[in-house]
Amino acid sequence: MHKDICPFCRIVAGEASAEILYESDSTISFLDINPINYGHALVVSKGHFRDFSDLPDDVLLDATRSLKVVSRAILESIRPAGFNIFNNNGAAAGQSVFHFHIHIAPRFEGDGMKIRPQLKIYESPEHMSEYAKVIREKIKVNDKSGE
Ligand SMILES: [Zn+2]
Repeated sequence: MHKDICPFCRIVAGEASAEILYESDSTISFLDINPINYGHALVVSKGHFRDFSDLPDDVLLDATRSLKVVSRAILESIRPAGFNIFNNNGAAAGQSVFHFHIHIAPRFEGDGMKIRPQLKIYESPEHMSEYAKVIREKIKVNDKSGE
């Protein structure tokens, strides 16, 4: 999505309104307009990055700190029984705005939100090891390159 029409870039630029909660060097936090529960907030990078895998390390660290600041404030003000922090990457994962954001959703007992996936079972220990092996190989490469 082009920066001029990206809804989150427009909020960052002050061209679209939002209930802004917090701002840090590289993030902004505001209320989600379609909340799971009232007080559901987003932490959004000020720069237009597509998703989590696209994020520079310094922005990731700043976003993590913002999550803590805003989560604590939600806990202390709205007093939910718990909260979820989650992030959708790609349409298949439920991402609808393709500008990096993390959700903070206050939770209450019996609030109707369900995260109950049908879990798979690996066919064998070797099958599981194959998945671990290809992931570890990429971690070795990516960790060294610092990306
Ligand atoms: Zn954007």
